[in-house]
Amino acid sequence: MITSLRACLALTLVACAAPASSAPATPSPIAPVGLDATEQAIAHAVDGEAAAALALLEQIVNINSGTMNFEGVRQVGGVLRAELDGLGFATRWVDGAPFGRAGHLVAEHAGAGPRVLLIGHLDTVFEPTSPFQRFERLSETSARGPGVIDMKGGDVIIVHALKALKAAGVLDRLTIAVVMTGDEEHAGEPQAEARRALIEAAKGAVAALGFEDGDGDPHTANIARRGASSWTLRTTGTPAHSSQIFRDEVGAGAIFEAARVLEAFRVKLSTQRYLTFSPGVMLGGTATMLDAPNNQGTASGKNNVVAKDVVVQGDLRTLSLEQLAAAQATMREIAAHSLPHTHSTIELADGYPPMAPTEGNRRLLALYDAASRDLGLGPVVAVDPSKAGAADVSFVANLVPMALDGIGMAGADDHTDKETADLRMLAPLTKRAAVVLYRLARAR
Ligand SMILES: [Zn+2]
Repeated sequence: MITSLRACLALTLVACAAPASSAPATPSPIAPVGLDATEQAIAHAVDGEAAAALALLEQIVNINSGTMNFEGVRQVGGVLRAELDGLGFATRWVDGAPFGRAGHLVAEHAGAGPRVLLIGHLDTVFEPTSPFQRFERLSETSARGPGVIDMKGGDVIIVHALKALKAAGVLDRLTIAVVMTGDEEHAGEPQAEARRALIEAAKGAVAALGFEDGDGDPHTANIARRGASSWTLRTTGTPAHSSQIFRDEVGAGAIFEAARVLEAFRVKLSTQRYLTFSPGVMLGGTATMLDAPNNQGTASGKNNVVAKDVVVQGDLRTLSLEQLAAAQATMREIAAHSLPHTHSTIELADGYPPMAPTEGNRRLLALYDAASRDLGLGPVVAVDPSKAGAADVSFVANLVPMALDGIGMAGADDHTDKETADLRMLAPLTKRAAVVLYRLARAR
């Protein structure tokens, strides 16, 4: 008797929760199989808003928001801010002047449940000078456009998942923070300033969800991302006639010293799983001049003069902070043992920290995978971290018990003028996100 009463209530809830003002609901391609009544209401609400979600995506893709087009980034932020204002969020714009960028959109919604952080970004790699500027519908099921998957599609999923929670009457069961950065593709400096708002928003959160497009496959998500930082090696030698090289008073010169250091890096560090480093540019000779911001430089020297200076710049990618610290210590150690009459210094810069594959991240993936299966959308597995670059979630992954990324829009070819979204996945991915949020609220 209790069971049938519950079923009856459940049916009533589904009927009541469908938003009255929306367009007729498009039926889901696959019937939901394991959802409770509220979750079914959430799924219906997403379907009811499918046309509006697509219109929002088209609208914001058509606003150029290359990272350095501050006005465009603010404009995209303004459109999404209005959507979040409409859901009752307290929104604010974080001015990007202190870090040389447009700024970030931050939105908060206080509720009875645990705090969850949702991460998007407003910028794209396509500046106003790019020929790739418009949303273009390729077929019934696909559209091409700058940022359509990276990650304006993800931003729309965030907004519409929250809308569905509101429509189902459960938005206030969580405390939600949304941060959409304006400089993910080309982060401002200093980094501590540029990521302050994101890091602040993560404090006290039980989970951080990043809506990057990941590898574009809706059946994968990121529980780990390698970090990316940089290093600069400078070596000096004693200039002398080349005929005297290797003699006690002259030594090996700066170029041999640089070769020693780089070869030792390769020998000692190149076989570690998930660790990579690559010298990207090298200048050496009697005089070198590196123009680091523009990734270029000049070098001059003569065959008959022992080299005086070398500068090398490279990257370093690791899966965990421990692996990063150990690799950096090895690099310092190698640099410290210079050849006679030479000297090496290595500068290790901060970059994107790694998002390590923690147990908590696996738990969140399991929750997301279960939601996907229950929605009839199939399983979701973890991406191989050697294929996952750094992203904004990496800045907060070490601060929260659970983090997951790459749950944004499906498609292919981001960062190219073929960037294409699989529009069939917009509603299903929105449902998955919304159901996971609802279950996070229940799981406390
Ligand atoms: Zn992105």
